[in-house]
Amino acid sequence: MSFDRESLALLDEALAVLADGFRHLPDVPQTLDVAQLREPLLAAARRLQDNAPYHHPLYVGHMQKPPHPVARLAYTLTLWLNPNNHAYDGGRASSIMEQEAIGEIARMIGWTDSQGHLCGGGTLANFEALWVAREQHPGKAIAASSQAHYTHERLSGVLGVPFRSIAADAHGRMDAAALEDALQDGTIGTVVVTLGTTATGAVDPLGRILALRARHTFRIHVDAAYGGYFTLADNLDADTRQAFDCVAQADSLAIDPHKHGLQPYGCGCVLFRDPAVRHHYRHDSPYTYLSSDDPHLGEISLECSRPGAAAVALWATQRLLPLVPGGAFAQDLAAGRMAALALYHALAGDARFAPLFPPPLDIVVWAVRADIASQASLRARALHAAAREHDLHLALVTLPRAMLETCAPVRTWDTDTLTCLRACVMKPEHREWMDEILARLDTAAALVR
Ligand SMILES: *Cc1c(COP(=O)(O)O)cnc(C)c1O
Repeated sequence: MSFDRESLALLDEALAVLADGFRHLPDVPQTLDVAQLREPLLAAARRLQDNAPYHHPLYVGHMQKPPHPVARLAYTLTLWLNPNNHAYDGGRASSIMEQEAIGEIARMIGWTDSQGHLCGGGTLANFEALWVAREQHPGKAIAASSQAHYTHERLSGVLGVPFRSIAADAHGRMDAAALEDALQDGTIGTVVVTLGTTATGAVDPLGRILALRARHTFRIHVDAAYGGYFTLADNLDADTRQAFDCVAQADSLAIDPHKHGLQPYGCGCVLFRDPAVRHHYRHDSPYTYLSSDDPHLGEISLECSRPGAAAVALWATQRLLPLVPGGAFAQDLAAGRMAALALYHALAGDARFAPLFPPPLDIVVWAVRADIASQASLRARALHAAAREHDLHLALVTLPRAMLETCAPVRTWDTDTLTCLRACVMKPEHREWMDEILARLDTAAALVR
């Protein structure tokens, strides 16, 4: 397949508009020798061929796809200036665009007076939220489910805060009863609620966890790095919808525009419901915040330098695709989930496979049936490799036995975990490509037998 190059003409036009804003400055003679760039650039292009085709619908492996063309162009356009959103001095327009874009994400989840900013990614967003949580509840533990992202435990260690792992149910959701047991001793200060786990897209029961605050005092941080945008989709199941509908009652939220928000990597977002948390960021920098009395983004962020280009790309994307229910962006998310449901039903009707449970979002996980568990894991690995030979790119995930008892893929358990296949059906084109994906899966599975 070829890449879109038509849009490059638009970049040329936009660069002329940008240059127009600086035409009063004396001209600087161009010394750039474009011919010299050719060899390293083409060498880089050849090196990049050594990648899976993340851009192609036959790639359904990890949660990965290229940014929207408007994000790619807006990001590239901004690089001619390279603003730094640590302060207005470093990037005036792009800081304001960041605040506008962030405000739209906050409104999407129902917050109008929150505080937040962009950051390097979901891990950084969670880190900042857990740091604020520690400042709010010093000495108390952070709890997350056994299916939460692995970095929560690591980040708790970095922050010097005890970490408590809470059991997950057969659907990979935090077990609210197990959480209530853990809350009894009063040592937990913050609960991380995952809306869309990385492994299976499981959505923790946020409503039931919020209800526990009637009897226990704790902060709630929602890790919606992957799933956050699905609040706009109109085809969620009832439990998932209910969880998303109460996100506004949480204290903080992480969401990754670089996962489902069509952005280049390096774009996470952290939001706090209460803007008063900004007092935790107090510092006294002698040189960065000189020229304006307005609060700078750098004064409410753990990081200092941050790419203005990331903010401009997000701003432009949301201008084209507003974060509203029923809009084109929302419809694309819903299409991915429909494709995931189609994949789930096809697998459920195939005696060779045992899909875990209907996908809450757009991630489908299935085991390959066998008599014994270790054999099922081997078959999954073999099928993963065989599919790749047919240009179908899947991912592998290892899950605890408890999450597989319902779909019962094996008769005998000789291991505590099972390696399964996983597909992130996150491109809107996946709906149309599902027959092709299933045909290639069938071919690969026939070879593995
Ligand atoms: C991806 C992910 C993270 C980590 O985010 P990065 O952007 O990769 O740093 C955290 N939590 C969940 C639920 C995720 O899916």
